[in-house]
Amino acid sequence: MPDLLRKLHHHPATAWLARAAGLPDPVELLRAAGPTDAQPLAGKRTAIRAAAGGYAADDLRAFALGAGAVIDDLQGQSLDILIFDATGCRTPAGYAALYDTFHAAASQIAQNGRVLLVAAPPAAATDPIAAAAARGIEGFSRSLGKELGKKGITVNLAYVAADALDRLDGPLRFFCGARSTYVSGQAVQLSTTAVARGTAIEGLHGKVAIVTGSARGIGMATAQRLVEEGATVVCVDVPAASQALHDTCRAIGATALVLDIAAADAPARLLDFLRERGGVDIVVYNAGITRDRTLARMARRDWDLVVDVNFGAIAAIDEALLAAQLLREGGRVICLSSISGVAGNFGQSNYAATKAALIGYVAARGAQLGARGITVNAVAPGFIETPMTQRMPFVPRELGRRLNSLKQGGQPRDVAELIAFLAAPGSVGITGNTIRVCGQALIGA
Ligand code: NAD
Repeated sequence: MPDLLRKLHHHPATAWLARAAGLPDPVELLRAAGPTDAQPLAGKRTAIRAAAGGYAADDLRAFALGAGAVIDDLQGQSLDILIFDATGCRTPAGYAALYDTFHAAASQIAQNGRVLLVAAPPAAATDPIAAAAARGIEGFSRSLGKELGKKGITVNLAYVAADALDRLDGPLRFFCGARSTYVSGQAVQLSTTAVARGTAIEGLHGKVAIVTGSARGIGMATAQRLVEEGATVVCVDVPAASQALHDTCRAIGATALVLDIAAADAPARLLDFLRERGGVDIVVYNAGITRDRTLARMARRDWDLVVDVNFGAIAAIDEALLAAQLLREGGRVICLSSISGVAGNFGQSNYAATKAALIGYVAARGAQLGARGITVNAVAPGFIETPMTQRMPFVPRELGRRLNSLKQGGQPRDVAELIAFLAAPGSVGITGNTIRVCGQALIGA
């Protein structure tokens, strides 16, 4: 569906009105199609800058070159990507490098450009001043994202200790490439928690993936992305969505499993199904429901239903999968949280509780499963253009769509891109994280 504000700005009859009213004119965001390229930064004009005394710049340069970037001094020229090694920012005086670099370079970054900052993890600092300086980079990068978002530029931050530098390759390719279109203002923590396994595998060939709630919307887009990457995908949805599920599976080349994940026998049925296939490598807990009402007006059954589907079913299935050892070494678990879970939301106490619970779940599980090379992360979408959000009344829908740095809603494919990245071997450094895909929504930011 064409964007209403863009239509108003670009129609001769309404352009003057849109300008006079000061309505934002959202830029057309560039998106990648098809499977991930071997060189996602091919031909991209890239500058790599660093604060003095940092430890990441050499690795960042090597990874960017490996991903096909054109690295040059590029003084005064237009840039597609700006990467900044802030690991040397350990004192207030060290912040001068932030000003000196970005004051000059921010306006050089082209529309749909990318900024990636890399900083030392605050928790690893022995000196409180160094911890503070590292944490401050987050405030800086989030502010920069809000300033540059009107040009479709994303700004993200990776916290990485010196011993996890080799894990920056995958995140650099994602956050500086065309697949992170709707991911901005995020701070990911890289670690050596998960043991690296099978990084030689190209794409997701040979992997079995299961995506719950994938008859439509974000789940369908995710299943399609995983198929594109070469995975064998099983799509799960409720009996009422059986027709749509089978249509989806036929269209994308996946296998259908009709199953209500909140049913008492769901874990056992899923286990039987996966045993026949020798286990599973990627589990995407996407199925989720809302039953919105203020708490005082909420019926007990709506409270229970949301808790059962969004939290109880995931806990029960995940426990059963782990107990039966059907989640293979090097596996990936990805839970769909929400910015409602990050910030809370009026009329969504049930939904927000469950979505916040998943943030806690991935942090705890990620720490537990690292020794088996399994990562566990959550993805928190903001306003995504799906049948669910299209049914919202006009005013809240327009507000939800615009209140972010990119001034537009995301596409299901944008969420699927982040999930596909977290499902891939190159994301091994990221576990226990919750990453928002929300165009840097102002809610909870
Ligand atoms: P959707 O309603 O379009 O699709 C959800 C799918 O899950 C449907 O096909 C539905 O039949 C299925 N499902 C529901 N209950 C199920 C059950 N018990 N067992 C199996 N399948 C079940 O939703 P969506 O917009 O694509 O959202 C997908 C996920 O992303 C959800 O967890 C949602 O909470 C989350 N999310 C969405 C948005 C957004 O803007 N669309 C924002 C934040 C979070």
